[in-house]
Amino acid sequence: MGTEGGVGVDVLSRYYDAIVFAYGAAKTKKLGIPGEELQGVHSAGDFVGWYNGLPSHKDMKFNLDVEDAVIIGHGNVALDVARILLTQPSQLARTDITETALKALEKSRIKTVTIAGRRGVIQAAFTVKELRELTEIPRTEFIPVIDKTQLQLPDGNSLPRIPKRIMAVLTTAINKQLKSRHRNAELFGRECRLLFLLAPTRFLSNLKEGHVGRVEFTRQSLVDPAKPDSKVISVNETTTIPAQIVFTAIGYTSLSLAGMSDLKVDVVRGVIPNTQGRVETVATKDFGYVETDAAMRERVPGMYASGWVKTGPTGVIATTMYSAFETGDSLVQDWNEGKEFLTPDAKVKGWEGFKEEVQKVGGKPVQWKDWKMIEAKEDRRGKMMGKEREKIVDIQEMIRVVEKA
Ligand code: NAP
Repeated sequence: MGTEGGVGVDVLSRYYDAIVFAYGAAKTKKLGIPGEELQGVHSAGDFVGWYNGLPSHKDMKFNLDVEDAVIIGHGNVALDVARILLTQPSQLARTDITETALKALEKSRIKTVTIAGRRGVIQAAFTVKELRELTEIPRTEFIPVIDKTQLQLPDGNSLPRIPKRIMAVLTTAINKQLKSRHRNAELFGRECRLLFLLAPTRFLSNLKEGHVGRVEFTRQSLVDPAKPDSKVISVNETTTIPAQIVFTAIGYTSLSLAGMSDLKVDVVRGVIPNTQGRVETVATKDFGYVETDAAMRERVPGMYASGWVKTGPTGVIATTMYSAFETGDSLVQDWNEGKEFLTPDAKVKGWEGFKEEVQKVGGKPVQWKDWKMIEAKEDRRGKMMGKEREKIVDIQEMIRVVEKA
């Protein structure tokens, strides 16, 4: 639940015995390096939100009428962005990507997509399936640039299971690339380069003032090359890569919601502190530090958290599902134990009461059955266009669908 419409979670709590915070991590992290404000430097999260049809992102603009894109970060979001930039629009047209994004991608002139991460192969955050998909994009040459001396890779057999599989995917890609060395460039059309041990240090503008033209990186060296959590240190060597469009894919963080502090709930270091989904208060603002000793934490009755706001922005969909099961189990366990705050109270009015609060501030309450109507409309629109669904990206239009029914 957002704060649009002016109803905070403190008001919500008056009408329910329990609240589960499951609103994810919407704020994209910033690098905080010079030039980040230049035109053409975007957060990958904004791009993902735009092509996925988030109402808040519908008016964003991305200039794809350029040749070189750089993506910073080695997580799955970085690979998602690369895949969308490189896949033939005719293939994307069958998915639920928005028509606006599809039209922009049809006109895209992007030829080279460079994905640069600050650590090595073993330390990369992306997963095997997503990497393999990227290596198999038709008409795109996938070029992993792996300097074994710099990466100091242990021999294949002593690698842990996942890095071993990642190395296998990369080795296959390198062999394929060697075989097609005398390729006809037109056969591919596009190039995807995967670079390691490069930390971004600044964005440089091009001749067109205010627009990004290159990204400067400092080469890194791994402190413990064989360890997935190895730190890096900078080597005294910089390199620049042409980029007229840049996406920073360096993770997300959760924001606090309006009215949260009245409930003694807070986002601390990007998550709502909790144990198995049961929300806790921690000493922060008053004492200036975060209490990590669980015994010193205090439970906030009736408050639960699930998903990225509970765990931080990690894991694939299945991970988030298990996180939700755990939180659900905690709630049911509390209920079965007869916790006082979950004892039915005739005075707690639930949806009927909360709906009035939303209407009082001029908001339009949308229930599950209303959302099902919006979904059905999106499906029908999609079918007419020969695609999975065509999302409605305008909130007023969603409301009209519900009101008309
Ligand atoms: P992520 O997996 O945490 O990756 C973030 C990347 O950004 C890492 O390579 C990290 O490098 C790098 N980074 C962070 N701060 C940096 C800095 N200051 N300078 C340079 N690089 C920096 O985050 P994500 O890609 O946003 O993905 C979030 C979660 O969603 C992940 O668990 C991901 O698997 C999941 N996801 C899954 C799918 C899927 O299942 N298909 C799709 C999208 C996302 P270091 O490792 O060196 O910190």
